[in-house]
Amino acid sequence: MKLSEIRATLKEIGVSPAKALGQNFLHDQNLARWIVDQTQITSEDYVLEIGPGLGALTEFILEKGAHVLAIERDARLAEFLHSRFGEERLEIVNTDALKFDPRVLFAHRRVKLVGNLPYNISSPLLLKFLQHPSPISLYLLTLQKEMAMRLSASPCTHDYGALTLRVQLHHRVKYLRSVAATVFFPRPDVDSAVVRLVPRDPIELPEHDDELLLKLIRIGFSQRRKQLRKLLREYISDWNRLASCLEIDPNARAEELSLLQWIALTNCIAPPPCQEMCSTANEQFPVVDKNDRIRNYASRSEVHGNNLRHRAVHILIFNQAGDVYLQQRSRWKDRHPLKWDSSAAGHVTAGENYDETARRELKEELDVDVPLERIFRLTASSSTDYEFIWGYRGVVSGGLAPNKYEIERGVFFAPTVIDGWTSARPDDFAPGFLECWKAYRRKTHSEREQTIRPETFSAANGAASSS
Ligand code: SAM
Repeated sequence: MKLSEIRATLKEIGVSPAKALGQNFLHDQNLARWIVDQTQITSEDYVLEIGPGLGALTEFILEKGAHVLAIERDARLAEFLHSRFGEERLEIVNTDALKFDPRVLFAHRRVKLVGNLPYNISSPLLLKFLQHPSPISLYLLTLQKEMAMRLSASPCTHDYGALTLRVQLHHRVKYLRSVAATVFFPRPDVDSAVVRLVPRDPIELPEHDDELLLKLIRIGFSQRRKQLRKLLREYISDWNRLASCLEIDPNARAEELSLLQWIALTNCIAPPPCQEMCSTANEQFPVVDKNDRIRNYASRSEVHGNNLRHRAVHILIFNQAGDVYLQQRSRWKDRHPLKWDSSAAGHVTAGENYDETARRELKEELDVDVPLERIFRLTASSSTDYEFIWGYRGVVSGGLAPNKYEIERGVFFAPTVIDGWTSARPDDFAPGFLECWKAYRRKTHSEREQTIRPETFSAANGAASSS
């Protein structure tokens, strides 16, 4: 829309731009088209647009054939967008983007996020949508210039800080261009800039412990002018040796260390993550025949190397809302690293039965001890990695404590989101989980049918049966 059209439309729909909602509307159509072009959106994409306003970007995103989910807080603008586009591929949600649950995005194949963000809430919005894990494969954002410079900053600069490192740890950030305030109506007090963020490959950087890394960074930047040797004294006793080992200036301040140096420094004090994994290499598993009867015992590597039938359990843990906890397998696992999997799972070892294994695995992986119910069984085949599997269900009311040697991270998801996700992106999952999820859904469908059928029967007959 041209400036004159924006003015006229706002008047017509009774909107006087509110500073509190960061309502500055883009009237440079060439720039709007250029911004959308940077996303390389195609009809394969599912685009989340935050703050569509009058549709300056929405128009060009729709032109690319993508499906758009636009979240607009102002009801009058949301209504206007309906009437302007009336397009099936455009879904408009009139809500606060800070309240939107990004987990639903996992159900879509390729998700991109685009937005000329309202400046007053751009930091919390960014931190919410950049949270890890995320299904978003690209972010194209127009931000306050100062914020864009902080996100894309390099070491030893004024803009480089804890936010830079926090974002760059999982994303490659590119400052694309500056944008003058004059392209917006009303004109904001500050200039803007367009940035592109692309998630890093999860194994691109060698960090062992994100939590500790971010903690050290926070402490390091808490007093920018102070030397790290003093700020990190509690964590690093022999600073001089470590500094020389990592080839950093012993008097360095936080802003002088690159992301890779911060990672190297943290890795020096984080426990080696594979320590516990190594101890499982010699475990003996029962090898079973096609009827799941024990024939002999073999090591983990023999069982997997020779496709021998063996036994395993998968446990699905639900919260009170009915969401299922999925874990992303640790990057250090020898099989299916970083794939998503059941809440907990593991092999039956020598001397154990299925139920004992389920309780042990749940305790070891999530530090939970709740009653478990057997819900499905799978026969050993190539799609289960030659495992006979019993599937269990349990419900928790409190928190879980994922074991970081086994689990990269874990999240509760609605079962319908998992349905969409497993069909849109099956490669995200360990193959055994896909089989377990199918079996679990077959079970829940049959349970639902059993509860629905008697009602259908009595409704059809006009009266309750009383046999
Ligand atoms: N994308 C449009 C453009 O480029 O012309 C509008 C951008 S304007 C900077 C920000 C938009 O975000 C406004 O339409 C405003 O109403 C909307 N907005 C403000 N706070 C929001 C929130 N919490 N959730 C969703 N939208 C919000």
